[in-house]
Amino acid sequence: MTELATPEATAGRHKGINEGNQLGCELGWNSELNRPYANIGIGAFLCKKRRKEMENFDKIVNLCKNRGFIFPGSEIYDGLANTWDYGPVGVELKNNIKKSWWKTFVQRSKNSFGVDADIFMNSKVWEASGHTASFSDPKMDCKNCKTRHRADNLIEEYSKGTANPDLMTNEEMEKYIADNHVKCPNCGKCDWTPIRNFNLMFSTSRGVTDEGQNLIYLRPETAQGEFVNFLNVQRSMRAKVPFGIAQIGKAFRNEVTPGNFTFRTIEFEQMEHQWFCKAETAMDYYKEFKQKALDYLLSIGFNKDHLRYHDHDKLAHYAKAACDIQYLYPIGWEELNGIHHRGDWDLSRHQQFSGKSMAYLDPFTNEKFVPNVIEYSIGADRLTLAVLCEAYEEQQLENDTRVVMHFHPAIAPYKVAVLPLQKQQSEKANEVFAELSKHFMCTYDEAGSIGKRYRRQDEIGTPFCVTYDFDSDTDGCVTVRERDSMQQERIKIADLVSYVENRIKL
Ligand code: ATP
Repeated sequence: MTELATPEATAGRHKGINEGNQLGCELGWNSELNRPYANIGIGAFLCKKRRKEMENFDKIVNLCKNRGFIFPGSEIYDGLANTWDYGPVGVELKNNIKKSWWKTFVQRSKNSFGVDADIFMNSKVWEASGHTASFSDPKMDCKNCKTRHRADNLIEEYSKGTANPDLMTNEEMEKYIADNHVKCPNCGKCDWTPIRNFNLMFSTSRGVTDEGQNLIYLRPETAQGEFVNFLNVQRSMRAKVPFGIAQIGKAFRNEVTPGNFTFRTIEFEQMEHQWFCKAETAMDYYKEFKQKALDYLLSIGFNKDHLRYHDHDKLAHYAKAACDIQYLYPIGWEELNGIHHRGDWDLSRHQQFSGKSMAYLDPFTNEKFVPNVIEYSIGADRLTLAVLCEAYEEQQLENDTRVVMHFHPAIAPYKVAVLPLQKQQSEKANEVFAELSKHFMCTYDEAGSIGKRYRRQDEIGTPFCVTYDFDSDTDGCVTVRERDSMQQERIKIADLVSYVENRIKL
């Protein structure tokens, strides 16, 4: 297994972050002032290290807005809290991340198949999955400032990880908060309402007359689309257990405490892979997926010191094991993805509620059984945010500072920027752009000094800048400048496609 970050190894950074977490923070866009805001509680008391981390997060939010990655939703109408729109650069980044995930978990696996299920599902699906009855967060309101909080988060942040709210009942959480005088991160008072469970599913109604409306839900996870299609995929693809079903799609949750930019939103995309297998092999596959999930993150450029496993102490009654991979965001260690050994709970419940057999007949042994499931789930937006944080660097050069996004070339929004040295080379440079853009996402820029144009590309993480200059007409070459090293080399125009292709592989 790859060795990961430990709390000890990153003690300095972690300590500062925990300190900040205790005070609470929220980032967003203030459309009135047209600038990002960082609501970081009693900011003056933040430790230096923590303040630096938060400043960087602030800068990343700012960069996202100004360089076309992510805009605040409905901005011209003063926004809608916790909604975000991906801009021209961000949509490329997120699409490339989704492609890299699909390539790793579907394209490169002989026995994994994709689906794209409807967001709306028969309401019985959510009864079978348990979401109607118990997909809720323990919410508490501060009576003084009227802000809403999750009791489990308050305890986690207050205790700096020494108390585990996952192991507590609502009554125990209330008692802990009262005994320890846990304060509201917003106003500093300790005056809480009792805990109420708050169902996170968004509901709407469907029907063509006012009287005949049926309650339906916007799916809170994509997983059920994979479970209800287990039989369809198995039969149509003649799949043999073990096999996987993957999906990328939107999910919706009426979160109690959305915030921290795109970290926790009410609409988000999930990338989920369910692996159906025999009970005896499930634990081995669980371990395999833990490793695979980590390897994927390392392959797209994460530093292993910024990732760690977090095994769950408290398991759902049907689960055999569960673990998150956490990433060291500027807001602290937070969940990036989950891996769960769910036993045969999901298919058995659908069998029970639908009345359709979910049993698989093994053609080799004639054994009939309901498969176990290993679930791997990661948020595309939460991963995109982690990629942005991981890539961001402010470099102090001799006479200059440069902001550079060190994206892995495979997920960089644009692979190449074509830059004519001067306007008179535009026509030829356009020909280079036309050829390269048949193969990769490219951008073209002829405004400003070449140095300024390089800086603009650094800020959106373009790995290669191709400059068509005075010599290009005679020697048939262009200057290729690499983003991270800033090294330049002369490359034949005829060789450019293969030059770039070889350097952007995952
Ligand atoms: P958390 O503990 O952060 O609320 P969770 O354990 O409820 O997450 P899962 O239900 O396991 O999350 O969802 C799988 C993945 O979907 C998460 O690991 C995360 O990457 C993503 N995700 C979940 N909720 C949100 C959200 N509100 N906004 C953005 N991404 C989310």
